[in-house]
Formats: sequence, C-alpha cells, structure tokens
Amino acid sequence: MSRRTTRPARPAAGVRTPAVTGESPCPCGLPAGYAQCCGRLHAGTVAASSCESLMRSRYAAFVVRDEAYLLRTWHPDTRPPAVDFDPAMRWVRLEVLETTEGSPFHTAGTVTFRAHYTDNGRPGSLHEKSRFVRHEGAWVYATAVFVD
Ligand SMILES: [Zn+2]
Repeated sequence: MSRRTTRPARPAAGVRTPAVTGESPCPCGLPAGYAQCCGRLHAGTVAASSCESLMRSRYAAFVVRDEAYLLRTWHPDTRPPAVDFDPAMRWVRLEVLETTEGSPFHTAGTVTFRAHYTDNGRPGSLHEKSRFVRHEGAWVYATAVFVD
C-alpha cells in the first residue's frame, strides 16, 4: 500500500484492525479461516450458493477492501462506478438477523443484518435489509430495502 503524503498523520484512534490473512478467522463471523470461507469467494474459486453467503462475503470484502469483488457482486443496474472505502471506518463484526428465500432454489431473497463498525474509534452500527437477486445465474446485491 502506498503511503499518502498529502494528508497529515491520523491521530491514533480506536483499535486498528489487524491485517486479514488466510489463517485469520473469517471477518464474516463464521467459524472458519478466511481462506476456507469468504476468501474462496473473493478469489473466484467458488460462487456464493445463497444470499446469506453472498452477504457475508460482501461484508468480508469491505473488511479486506476487495473493491473488485464488491463491484462484480453488485447488480449492474445499481452498481456504483467505484467503492469509496472510508479510511476512518473499521468494520468489526457482522450479525445476520434474518434471511428470506435466497437459497440455491430461489432467484431472489433478503438478508437483514447489523454490521458493527468504529468510525475514528467511535462505535456504531449499520442496520440494513438487503435484497439480492440472481443475475446470469449468480447471486448479486440489488438494493437496500431499508437502512437505519
Ligand atoms: Zn466468511
């Protein structure tokens, strides 16, 4: 990662997220190592079989800042041109609260979750119900049904 010289050094705030390696616990919260869990999806080795696994892998992609994965799992109708990772944000934990449909036998589904973060060291959380659909056979993120 290149060092940015145009910004003053950020004051130490909160806890830095340690770098995620293949042996790290997967950021998505499942009891597997990153390489055996969402890392396989990020690498393109396997595709998400359900809305929940796609949602978990997208959360993990925010943690590891895998922009390419986020963009290719975003429906083309709603996909932004780029993902703007806020350097002050640290995603710390994901709770999946509810899922509807979204299995290998469905073509759409929703996942309601709470994603916990720190913003410049201040804790917060994002509560969202996301809608996922199949696009060319693969699960993609379509839109937020609600966010609070
Ligand atoms: Zn995972």
